[in-house]
Amino acid sequence: KVFTKDEIRQDVKEKHVKFLRLMFTDLYGTIKNVEVPISQLDKVLDNKMMFDGSSIDGFVRIEESDMWLYPDLSTWMIFPWGNEHGTVARLICEVYNADRTPFYGDPRNNLIRILDEMKELGFTDFNIGPEPEFFLFKMDETTGRPTTHLNDKGSYFDLAPIDLGENCRRDIVLELEKLGFDVEASHHEVAPGQHEVDFKYADALTACDNIQTFKLVVKTVARKHGLHATFMPKPLERINGSGMHLNMSLFNKDGNAFFDENGDEQLSDNARHFLAGVLKHARSYTALMNPLVNSYKRLVPGYEAPVYVAWSGHNRSPLVRVPVARGASTRLELRSVDPSANPYLAVAAVLAAGLDGLKNKLEAPSPVDRNIYSMTQEEREANNIADLPSTLHNALKELRTDDVIKEAMGPHLYSNFMEAKRLEWDAYRLEVSQWELDQYLEMY
Ligand code: ADP
Ligand code: GLU
Ligand code: MG
Ligand code: MG
Repeated sequence: KVFTKDEIRQDVKEKHVKFLRLMFTDLYGTIKNVEVPISQLDKVLDNKMMFDGSSIDGFVRIEESDMWLYPDLSTWMIFPWGNEHGTVARLICEVYNADRTPFYGDPRNNLIRILDEMKELGFTDFNIGPEPEFFLFKMDETTGRPTTHLNDKGSYFDLAPIDLGENCRRDIVLELEKLGFDVEASHHEVAPGQHEVDFKYADALTACDNIQTFKLVVKTVARKHGLHATFMPKPLERINGSGMHLNMSLFNKDGNAFFDENGDEQLSDNARHFLAGVLKHARSYTALMNPLVNSYKRLVPGYEAPVYVAWSGHNRSPLVRVPVARGASTRLELRSVDPSANPYLAVAAVLAAGLDGLKNKLEAPSPVDRNIYSMTQEEREANNIADLPSTLHNALKELRTDDVIKEAMGPHLYSNFMEAKRLEWDAYRLEVSQWELDQYLEMY
């Protein structure tokens, strides 16, 4: 819903809003905000708020640091959790340069740019339904720091009393509903301490905003229960990591453009070409879906996370699954994404990959309906099944070779991302881990 300025002013008065958070997302997917007292409301609504962009990672250099914040009025939201100093509301903003042109180092602006390219091809919406997973860990009672101690021993769909995280998860769902989220399901995930909350799909921009809000709510509510919620992809070895599957579909004025009653398996040509593009560029957009050194510890065989570039209608081991639902729910599920991904960048990249498939009428390979984890390397090679990159370093190398994905990021985000991730990889390379000491210290 797009709120008018007057509706917002009315809301402020009725609900005694005292502070306004102007939010945007940096290169790493971290929410940033500038908080202003409500006396600044008119200035905000008239696009007259400036901030210093040089202090934000991946934004601008010192000499050109003044930037504008343009609020997106459809993102108006009053936080339900009280603050002793007064009610707080938020608006998500687009970042503009001093000369009032859109700043494309803002990942949200960049996604809007790719969505405009999609609209030129005749589609109205790219719909995204995310399935974020996370762990709830105990806090250390003396230091107040998060630990990796589990709060429960539950597993998939378990019920209390095994599942002590249940009350916390229920509170999360209630808070989300207060904020207008349409929560479809929430359940304990496979690993102990691991949870998932699914909310209804929305157009790409709203869905990404929702993911950002969702993380904030989960972390805030967990704290109230004395727990630490983490979206780190693989916090514990030898048990499942956390993914954030993205369900996606293109809509046009007639509805779901992936559905065709008379098509093979009731999928449209659009769906097939889009799928082909998503598979073709999979290795090169992996760095965006899985941006941390730690992300690659999740993408290993045996933990329900994908390792190979393939698709299937049934099986959960490939990169892309086409769930059986048809009609308005016809969709592709991309399973590699993890919740450390910057959602705006991840969605821009997969959309650009799919549109490349559409524009060039690429054909998808045949589905692989057996468990790929149990195939030998020779069998995979015979079936043309490629591996996903196995490390952040390899993923960055792949990204460097793909002009479609580079273009989907734009030069500013691309160069800042590459630089930041190269430093991250180099820092990791300098470390000697406990595993290495255990393996080698005495043996050699
Ligand atoms: P899974 O089969 O992987 O367990 P879930 O039922 O947990 O899937 O989640 C399905 C997600 O797909 C929800 O977020 C739902 O809103 C979303 N979804 C349904 N239809 C569409 C669609 N047409 N486009 C995008 N997402 C969709
Ligand atoms: N946790 C698994 C992952 O890493 C996904 C489990 C599921 O299918 O929901 O992607
Ligand atoms: Mg799940
Ligand atoms: Mg799923």
